[in-house]
Amino acid sequence: MTDSFSNLSLAEPLARAVAEMGYESMTPIQAQAIPVVLTGKDVMGAAQTGTGKTAAFSLPLLQRLLKHENTSTSPARHPVRALVLLPTRELADQVAQQIKLYAKYTQMRCAVVFGGMDMKPQTLELKRGVEILVATPGRLLDHIEAKNAVLNQVEYVVLDEADRMLDIGFLPDLQRILSFLPKQRTTLLFSATFSPEIKRLAGSYLQDPITIEVARPNETASTVEQRFYTAQDDDKRRVVKAVLKERGIKQAFIFVNSKLGCGRLARSLEREGLVTAALHGDKTQDERLKALEAFKKGEVDLLVCTDVAARGLDIKDVPAVFNFDVPFNAEDYVHRIGRTGRAGASGLAVTLVSPSDMRLVADIEKLIKTKLQVENYPLDEDRSRGNVSEGRREERRDDRREERRPERGFERRREEEAPRDRRSSFRPAQASRDPFFEKPYEAPSLEQAAAASWEASPKTTASRTGISANIKPKRKVAALFKSGE
Ligand code: AMP
Repeated sequence: MTDSFSNLSLAEPLARAVAEMGYESMTPIQAQAIPVVLTGKDVMGAAQTGTGKTAAFSLPLLQRLLKHENTSTSPARHPVRALVLLPTRELADQVAQQIKLYAKYTQMRCAVVFGGMDMKPQTLELKRGVEILVATPGRLLDHIEAKNAVLNQVEYVVLDEADRMLDIGFLPDLQRILSFLPKQRTTLLFSATFSPEIKRLAGSYLQDPITIEVARPNETASTVEQRFYTAQDDDKRRVVKAVLKERGIKQAFIFVNSKLGCGRLARSLEREGLVTAALHGDKTQDERLKALEAFKKGEVDLLVCTDVAARGLDIKDVPAVFNFDVPFNAEDYVHRIGRTGRAGASGLAVTLVSPSDMRLVADIEKLIKTKLQVENYPLDEDRSRGNVSEGRREERRDDRREERRPERGFERRREEEAPRDRRSSFRPAQASRDPFFEKPYEAPSLEQAAAASWEASPKTTASRTGISANIKPKRKVAALFKSGE
């Protein structure tokens, strides 16, 4: 095959770093994107996290920036030359750690800034000078306002997971950030799908981009068994438990549509003896890292998560995925079930459909171009009338306590899920740590998995709208969408 990294004539420090990573050959997105990015052309790439996308843009970008490499201690000699924007702190951290590995034998500096962390250490790093800046949009704007980040020498901008950034409502932030960048630059846009909004974004900010698609968007893996079961809200937990037991599944992701629902469901499952962790946008960075680590080690059986919190994390090949809520956005269905059945392994995706969800199921059918069968899941009636009713009563009490605000569907979700870069920027300082992001998820060993909690005795376990007056845009923000977002 021609997909060897040696065909790229990468500079020695980069080639050495790649060799050290142990990569044998390029992934499809790398084989297609690297030669194009090396020519300096704009790229519109359809690729999800997990495809080797980070190396696909960062290796050629580093190669082209090597001409600026210097050992000076003067910050002025290390202006930001490349900006990588991502929707969530986990993704930003993950991508920055990877770039640091690829750049480790060069003099190029890479820093990451995201919300939920003290700004001071980030500021110090920015003031020392960095060539590659990885950031979430909200926190980057904070640093721009504070004059910690100057972007007038940026040559490359990468909009990574662009569809997710738009979905969260980051369009105004992106427009604002892009207005600070020089017009003469290379723009790389990566997105899982090329929706009309993404195409419009590309139309506004990319120049004659080369389109690269490694897998047909909106394609679900044929190795995933997709099941749709009708279930009233009160019965959903029982269906989850019954399916896990029936199939002998040890670990699963459970997706919900809101942060409130996420915490509530995790607690309900926990009360029923399942070892559960919740992953959503209101958890601190430390809590999220701990939850993921515990799941990777097999200490947690069920990871209940929202789409944004789970997107792009390096946890793959989970035996089963449950859509406790049918996603509001059909594309999220594809992302969710993409967690299971990878690399030829078979996986199970169970979607629990309440009567009012049929329209959402129809949207999924349309997107994946497959007729879906919504079946009844036979629950054991005796069990349903006995011990569960107490659990339900308890859950309702719990719901009432927590239901401070009514659900407002999709708009509510957006509001909830947007990374709280601004609001949460005063949490105590915490060093960015990343050890397990580097390790791909591996299923726990048999011994670890043997004692799945539903088989053993119950365990106890554990858009921004206001713009600062400090910002003086050099030119008007492009009017991307007529009505705005
Ligand atoms: P990404 O899609 O960039 O998040 O990459 C997902 C994972 O694939 C990371 O753990 C990378 O270290 C790994 N990876 C990237 N490129 C290659 C390659 N050519 N061969 C094997 N693994 C790779």
